[in-house]
Amino acid sequence: MVVERAELAPAMKFSHWRRRWIQLVSSSSDAFLEVDGSGTVIEWNPRAEELFGWGRDEVVGRPVSETLLPSGVAASPFSPAIAGGGDGEGRPAPRPGAGGPQRFELVDRSGHTLCTEGELFASGFGSGRRVGGFIRHPVEQGPMAATPARADLHDALTGLPNRALFSSQLARCAAVGTAPGSVAVVLLDLDRFKAINNTMGHDAGDRLLVAVAERLRRVAGDAELIARFGGDEFLALFHSAGGDAEGMASAFIERARGSLAEPFDVVGGEVFLDESFGVALNTFGVDDPAELLSNAEAAMYQAKYRGGSIAETFGESMRIEVLDRMTTEHSLHRALERSELMLHYQPVVEIEGVATVGVEALVRWQHPDQGLVAPYRFIPVAEESGLIISIGAWVLEQACHQLADWHRGQEGPKGSIEVNLSARQIDDPLIVSTVEAILSRTGLSPEHLTLEITESALMRDASSALGVLRALKEVGVVLAIDDFGTGYSSLSYLQRFPLDILKVDRSFVEELGLNGESEKIVSAVISLAHALGLKVVAEGVETTQQLEVLRSFHCDFAQGFLFSAPLPAADIVASFGLPISA
Ligand code: C2E
Ligand code: MG
Ligand code: MG
Repeated sequence: MVVERAELAPAMKFSHWRRRWIQLVSSSSDAFLEVDGSGTVIEWNPRAEELFGWGRDEVVGRPVSETLLPSGVAASPFSPAIAGGGDGEGRPAPRPGAGGPQRFELVDRSGHTLCTEGELFASGFGSGRRVGGFIRHPVEQGPMAATPARADLHDALTGLPNRALFSSQLARCAAVGTAPGSVAVVLLDLDRFKAINNTMGHDAGDRLLVAVAERLRRVAGDAELIARFGGDEFLALFHSAGGDAEGMASAFIERARGSLAEPFDVVGGEVFLDESFGVALNTFGVDDPAELLSNAEAAMYQAKYRGGSIAETFGESMRIEVLDRMTTEHSLHRALERSELMLHYQPVVEIEGVATVGVEALVRWQHPDQGLVAPYRFIPVAEESGLIISIGAWVLEQACHQLADWHRGQEGPKGSIEVNLSARQIDDPLIVSTVEAILSRTGLSPEHLTLEITESALMRDASSALGVLRALKEVGVVLAIDDFGTGYSSLSYLQRFPLDILKVDRSFVEELGLNGESEKIVSAVISLAHALGLKVVAEGVETTQQLEVLRSFHCDFAQGFLFSAPLPAADIVASFGLPISA
C-alpha cells in the first residue's frame, strides 16, 4: 500500500489511506473487523457478515462483547492489543505476540462457538487507538470445516453469496432455529427475464442482474444473507429467535418490490421488472434445509402458476395443491396411453353472411372417475410437466385427421381447423417438423390449418417465437394470435409476427353493449388489426346484441355459444353448415 505522504495534507492523507484500507478489507477473503479503544466495532467487512451472521449495520457502533463473545465472557481478545502501540500514522502495527496466528473462541449470531484464528493489528494513539483483526475459520476445525474457499462461495457476476454459501448458512440457522417460524427462506424469480435477455442481449441481461443484486443488497435489512441462486433467481434468509421470521420476510418482500418497481436503465431503454416470490418457513415439522429450499421453490412456482408478480407462502393448502398437480400429472400420462383424451369442435362463423367457415378443436379429458375434465384443469399441468408436447401432437394429428375426413366427403364442416399451441410447444425445436409430418400423414393442405398461439405465449420470448412463426409460415399454415388483450403486448411485435388472424378475448366481447370503454377498445383493436392486414375473430359471442355491435365494427368472424358450444365431432356434423339466424 503506497501512500504519497509528502504531497497530501494530513487530513486528506488520512482519508485517502482510510479509503484504500476499507477497499482492501472489504474484498478480503478473511473476515475483518476493527474495534476502537472502547471496544466498539467500527469496521466489519462482507466476509465477517458471512462468518458471524451479523450485518454490518447491526454491529458497527455496538460493543464487540455483545456480538462475538460467548455469554459471560467479558474480556475481549482485542483488549490486550488495544493496550499496545501503533506507528501513529494510522497504519497497522505488528501483531502483538510472535509466531503464527492467534486462536480465538468467538460466537456467531446463532450462538454457535467458532474456533477461529487470525491476526490482530493495532493502530493510532490514545483515544484514537484501534485494533483490527483478520479472522478465519480454519479448515481443520468444527462443523464449518467443509466451507469452500471464498471464490466458490460467491457468484462471479453479482458478487453476492452463492447457493453453496446460502445452503451452509441456512443449515446453521435451521440447526439452532428449531422454534417454528424462526427461519424463513425467500426465493425471488424475475418474471419474463428470459424474454428480456433474448430481446435486449445477454450483456444487458447481465447488467440487469447486477443492478437487481445491488438493489436487493440495499433493502436487505435484517436478512441474514442475500444470495444468487442462479439464473434470475435470488434468495434471502431470515432468522428470528422470537419466531417472527415470516414478518421479517414479508417486510423484505415489500421493500424489494418497492425497490425493483423503479425502472432499470439498460442500453436500449428502460426496463420494468416484475418478480414472483416463494416463501418457506420452518413450520409443519419442516426444518431440513433442503426441504425448506424446495418448499420455497414450490411456493415460487405456485406464484408463477398464478400469473406471477405475487408472493406465495408454502403451507398445508399448497402442499395439497402440489400433490393434486402431481396426481393429475401422473394420471395424464396414462390418459394418453388409454385414449382418454378427446376433441370437441366449436364453429367459427363469418359475421357478414353468418356462415360457418371453420372449427376450433378444443381438447377434453374423459376421466374415468371425474367425468369430462375441462382444459383449464389439466393444460397448465401438462405445460409444466412437458407432457403438452405429446398431448399437443396428439391434438394436432387428431384435428387434422378429422378435418381431412370431412374434406374427403364425410358429412361435416369443410372449412379450416384451428388448433391451439401452447408456449411450451413453441419452444419445442421439433415443432415445425411435427406440423409438417402431421400434414403429410393426414393429407390436409396447410392453408386449412390455423395454429392459435396466445398473446402471452408469444410475448414470453418474443424473438425466438418470431423465428418459429416464420418457419411455420413457410410451411403454409395460417397463424392466429389468441386471447388478444389479456397479456402484455407489444404492437411493434404484432406487426413483425407473420400473423393472419387476431382473436379478441372473450373478456372484451362480454362487455359489448354494456360498457362503452370495451366498445372503444374492441373497435380500436379491429381497426388496428385491419390496418396490419389481419382478420379478426371475436371470441365468446353469446348474444345477438354483441353480434350486432361487432358487425357495426366490421369484425370478420365470431365464435361463441350464440352459434354453438364446442361439441364432439359426431354432434357438430348435424348443426354445422346451417346458416344461423341472428
Ligand atoms: P381458447 O383457445 O380461447 O378457446 C376458447 C374457450 O372459450 C373454450 O374453452 C370455449 O369452450 C370457450 N368458449 C367459447 N365460446 C364461449 C362463449 O360464448 N362463452 C363462454 N363463456 N365460453 C366460450 P375451453 O374449451 O374450456 O378451452 C379453454 C382454453 O384451453 C382454450 O382457450 C385454450 O387456450 C386451451 N385449450 C383448449 N384445448 C387446447 C389444446 O388442445 N391445446 C392447448 N395448448 N390449449 C388448449
Ligand atoms: Mg383458441
Ligand atoms: Mg381464446
